Amino acid sequence: MEKQPLDKRIDLVSDKHKNDPYLREKELKLLLKEAEKCADLHAIGKTNLYISISIFNQGKRGSMLGYAYKAVSVLEKLNDPSLLAQSYNLMGIAYAGLGSFQSAITYYNKALQLVQGKKNPSIRKETLLNNIGDSYFQMGAFQKSLRISLDCLSGCRKKNPENHRAMILYGINCSDSFCSLGQFSQAKEALDSVEPDAKYIEHPILLCGYYTRRSYVLYAIGNAEEGAKNADLVLELAHSNGDSYEFHYYFEQIVGFQIKIGDLERAKRFSDTLTQYASVGGHTLDQITAKRVEAMLCIVCGDRDRALELYKEIASLFDELLKEKREIQYESQKSVDIARLEISKMMQKIRMNEEKAERDALTGLMNRSALVTVSGEFIENAKKNKKKIGGIFLDIDYFKEYNDTYGHAAGDEAIKLIANVCKAEVNASVKFFRYGGDEYFGLVLGHSNKKMEELVLRIYDNVRSSGVKHVKNPNGQRLTVSVGVVNVDLQNTDITILDIIKYADRALYHAKDRGKDDVFAYIPMPGSEHEYKRISPDAFLVQEQ
Ligand code: GH3
Ligand code: MG
Repeated sequence: MEKQPLDKRIDLVSDKHKNDPYLREKELKLLLKEAEKCADLHAIGKTNLYISISIFNQGKRGSMLGYAYKAVSVLEKLNDPSLLAQSYNLMGIAYAGLGSFQSAITYYNKALQLVQGKKNPSIRKETLLNNIGDSYFQMGAFQKSLRISLDCLSGCRKKNPENHRAMILYGINCSDSFCSLGQFSQAKEALDSVEPDAKYIEHPILLCGYYTRRSYVLYAIGNAEEGAKNADLVLELAHSNGDSYEFHYYFEQIVGFQIKIGDLERAKRFSDTLTQYASVGGHTLDQITAKRVEAMLCIVCGDRDRALELYKEIASLFDELLKEKREIQYESQKSVDIARLEISKMMQKIRMNEEKAERDALTGLMNRSALVTVSGEFIENAKKNKKKIGGIFLDIDYFKEYNDTYGHAAGDEAIKLIANVCKAEVNASVKFFRYGGDEYFGLVLGHSNKKMEELVLRIYDNVRSSGVKHVKNPNGQRLTVSVGVVNVDLQNTDITILDIIKYADRALYHAKDRGKDDVFAYIPMPGSEHEYKRISPDAFLVQEQ
């Protein structure tokens, strides 16, 4: 069975293991090796992007930056705004995870520019705006985060009101910013406005997050009764999942309010929930919060010794947290450094391959596809510096007969010999290409007509005087070439490389028509007229006789 194309297999693997980020990472890394081997830049970019997402889904932060960085470096060279936007977003997420919020915002904005105005963007504009708002929030720029969250909320309400998950998320974000600015009643309004969306939400973590904010805001505005009701909902939902890391800050605040109003029973239940989270694979930050809340309760209950013990534990947990942060930052920096090195090595290899691809294997001359690149550069230079551009078409005479007489291998040698004659003329302004079977094309920049004639005659003569026998060639029974040449001024014309090739080709065929073993120049005349000028000196013909 034929293998699926690499690009397709990357999508298949990614989809097949979407619920197992570990296996997905492992399988994608195998495909990445394959992509690198065949220098498939698109596949390399895509795999790096997907690996980075898999690492993010595993909750690891350190090495995701390196893969996202590689994805961005490669995809920036290609024209795939959809994958590039996703990669920029991921760079943003990775930087935000490291606490580099300004860098995160820069990358989110780059992604935003790419999805702007797109009908079916790979990431929704609101998602990116939300990420930017989140970074501003983390930086303490609450006015900015608030403005963005309000925009997201009203945008979603207008364009996507049935996306209840997004509505709740934006409502929560608005509330968080309002709360951080001390504007609790506005926070409550924001949460109230998305309350109808809550009944559609099945995701317990999101719901728990929503009611946590509600409870906190209600306590903050002095509505202890409603605050407590929402707190009970939170406790109910919190027990159905093991992840409250996102809102541990609010749990602590809620306990603070409950202690203040003497609701120690609820405060104790919150404290126990936090302790439970912290013990089940909790983040160090969760452990710190859990201990701080427990210490708060110990103080209220008069157990000062236990509180002191807890504060000591908190101090060493902070040291650990700092160490963890440093390690992640070190690991990230290392992964970017390695990625940078790998990318530069890979690009070097690809450039070498591209160079190889532009060369003809038999002669080592550049091939026709290289002609496109080089002619572009020559023509630009000629126009800018008011120089002439010349084209030389060269074709072996009676080559079919040569092959038939001496064999294909000898034919190859003859092709190489003429290529070497051409190569001897190559410099910064003279380039030769193998155009086809026994055809060569020369591109010449800034030569006078005289210098051009000297050049082609030198080649013509060097082939003839190489003394290679060709008994079927009536022109001296030796290997000869016919040459057509043109040398034009590009100023005030719209002459292209195709015209230059065409003119040189016409001159070549004029030479072939006139008996071969000859050199003719194509002379453009005003209007569509043109004439041919014979260049090869009769001396050669005289020598023959
Ligand atoms: P003319 O004098 O009009 O140019 O005729 P010709 O026989 O040289 O040209 P034609 O285009 O009819 O045939 C070119 C031949 O070159 C045909 C093909 O077999 C041979 N050829 C093309 N590429 C190669 C190659 O790489 N090696 C060898 N040995 N022969 C080749
Ligand atoms: Mg030929």
